[in-house]
Amino acid sequence: MVIVRNIDFYSMCEHHMLPFFGKCHVAYLPDRRVIGLSKIPRVVDVFARRLQVQERLTKQVAETIRDKVRPHGVAVVMEATHLCMAMRGVEKQNSVTVTSAMLGVFHSDARTRHEFLELIRQPSNGSIAGESAILNSVGCEAE
Ligand SMILES: [Zn+2]
Repeated sequence: MVIVRNIDFYSMCEHHMLPFFGKCHVAYLPDRRVIGLSKIPRVVDVFARRLQVQERLTKQVAETIRDKVRPHGVAVVMEATHLCMAMRGVEKQNSVTVTSAMLGVFHSDARTRHEFLELIRQPSNGSIAGESAILNSVGCEAE
């Protein structure tokens, strides 16, 4: 399993024309092809840079990686703060909206999905079990 986590993204809510932004975590289980790791944040960028709704953005990132790489499965989780929500009430200031898209084995196999969800929650310096490679995205400047 290849995971790139903590990809920063900035997008714009198409309902309210206000920004939403946060972190995106992407994993895939390769079959034959692999994708350059710096390309994953770029896929996120391409779809974030238009008017969006978070659910669709999450799905588009997952489907694009699925179509390009044809892996056994793709998982995408996005955690975002929406200014349109934050501005409507103080009690919602710190609310985070989480969306996910699970395709292939991440959809059909609960263990694979669980492993992914565990791995994106691990601290950066934690020891990593299994054969998964975790990469913390540091943004496009450092690619
Ligand atoms: Zn909105």
